Amino acid sequence: MPVKFSIVAPVFNELENIPELYRRVAAVMSATGETWELVLVDDGSNDGSTERIRELAAVDKHVRPVIFARNFGHQIAVTAGWDYARGEAVVIMDADLQDPPEVIPDLIARWREGYEVVYAVRAEREGETWFKKVTAALFYRIIYRITDVKIPLDTGDFRLLDRKVVDTLKTMREHHRFPRGMAAWVGFRQIGVPYKRAARHAGVTKYPFSKMFKLALNAITGFSYFPLQLATYFGFTSAGLAIVAIPVVIIMRVIGHGAFLGQATTLIAVLFLGGVQLIFLGVLGEYLGRIYDEVKGRPLYIVREAPEREG
Ligand code: UDP
Ligand code: MG
Repeated sequence: MPVKFSIVAPVFNELENIPELYRRVAAVMSATGETWELVLVDDGSNDGSTERIRELAAVDKHVRPVIFARNFGHQIAVTAGWDYARGEAVVIMDADLQDPPEVIPDLIARWREGYEVVYAVRAEREGETWFKKVTAALFYRIIYRITDVKIPLDTGDFRLLDRKVVDTLKTMREHHRFPRGMAAWVGFRQIGVPYKRAARHAGVTKYPFSKMFKLALNAITGFSYFPLQLATYFGFTSAGLAIVAIPVVIIMRVIGHGAFLGQATTLIAVLFLGGVQLIFLGVLGEYLGRIYDEVKGRPLYIVREAPEREG
């Protein structure tokens, strides 16, 4: 039977959230009177979430479990969700109920109006630390400034994608991913729907600072050459400075000024330029490593068990 709506949620150790997620999604989706499925992508959980997902799938055929062989990360789990979802429209949401399932009908309403990407905009955030809010706000603004893709401000991965968009995204197999950037990059008719981001239903965040930092790097390197170009700008500036400095120093010498004799000045200049060069070597390394990962061409994820894939 064709499926109208797919709800995709990546799950990494969300044992206490799964029953509530299922209950609320089922309530909202049965009220639509359409066919639906809940694709739960288990991203290598080790707290019993896997078994809980299997139990649900055994009693309700709406639940489609995709179980990873290990933890591959949120972005990859979202990708697997795109791959396994069969619906005409696919909704991506977190499993911790920070994205309320009750917003889904609003997204669907916009989709029915003809929009192909309907993203949920966080008008308010509840129960998050000021550190998370400040870094998130800063992150979105930096990405907006330096990337070529205009990713709408304050949106997460909570969004509805039309089948056409999902099929396009499925052809993009890059390893270091930033799904919301990719969804913005493909174009189509897009619109935002404001919502209030809730606090986590249970458990703690699975996104420590290190993972957020990695995501930010993926976003920047995946959509911008700016860090590479920065080296060029910097090189021109310091070379320009040197060219101006040469006649200045010569003239000062000729008229008998004893300036710039100090070792300290030399040392600082050497350390500074050495540091700058190492930083840009690191930037090159970031891009090179990503190229290496693409060249290896490994699969994005490995599933232990999953339903038959269509398309
Ligand atoms: N998640 C995942 N793999 C990971 C980390 C997180 O699938 O390696 C899932 C997690 O279970 C949740 C969603 O991604 O459904 C968002 O994670 P979380 O709520 O911890 O992030 P936050 O909302 O704190 O940014
Ligand atoms: Mg969360």
